[in-house]
Amino acid sequence: MKPKYNIGDKVWYATTRSVERWLTCPCCCGDRFVTVITGDGKQHQIMCQECNTGGWEDHAVGSKKYYEYETTSREVTINRIEVQGDKTDYGTVDYYRIEESDLFLSKDEADARCTILIQERNKAELDRALGKHDHKRTWAWNTAYYRKKIKEAHRDIEYYTAKLNAAPKKKDEAV
Ligand SMILES: [Zn+2]
Repeated sequence: MKPKYNIGDKVWYATTRSVERWLTCPCCCGDRFVTVITGDGKQHQIMCQECNTGGWEDHAVGSKKYYEYETTSREVTINRIEVQGDKTDYGTVDYYRIEESDLFLSKDEADARCTILIQERNKAELDRALGKHDHKRTWAWNTAYYRKKIKEAHRDIEYYTAKLNAAPKKKDEAV
């Protein structure tokens, strides 16, 4: 397929840039903790997992980072053309690879393409930040897991304490 543009052509590249933003955590509303009530009616306050930054220690921050995309269409000069089958990529001084569908003759056309890209990317980012995705681990799962771990730890303490006290006691030894 013949490339739409030629080397030396000045065209508009529909590109976006992302800006870091923060929103209040939709799960703990910034409190960093959530209350879970289990089937036995007990209330448990556990660290929010939605805004937990992870790592070795639990660390919920009460807010979630997301990226907001902005239009930054810019004029570029093509200095490289790469045709592979029915796909044509272009290169410029600043960009190694630009798809033909992101290059336009006018800034207006490039901006229009950006508007579509931004809408898609912003929606995906917000959905992610607002937690509109499947949680592998629910709050109930976390609560049940913590309780199970505590029970196991208690069992371990009893077990190893018994091990330490396994030797037959000498007469008169203080207990
Ligand atoms: Zn949270």
